Amino acid sequence: MKYLILLVIVVAVLLLAKLGRRNARSDGSSAANKPSAASEKQTLLACAHCGVHLPVNQSLPGRGGVFCDEAHRSAFERAHPLE
Ligand SMILES: [Zn+2]
Repeated sequence: MKYLILLVIVVAVLLLAKLGRRNARSDGSSAANKPSAASEKQTLLACAHCGVHLPVNQSLPGRGGVFCDEAHRSAFERAHPLE
């Protein structure tokens, strides 16, 4: 009976160790994924008209650079006409 209790304790400790290792591994992979996602978001471009910084995926490309919205793009193109 004494050995049975000891065996149950050993199996429980091994299971806990396995679960702990699995959690540590998933934490490590999520921490490894975060920097790449953050660096994508941190790529900022300045609006050529007002200078506000905005993420690449929200910028509006135009003549003379990128713009924060359509109004600034047309304002910039009015201020800098093609000759
Ligand atoms: Zn702007």
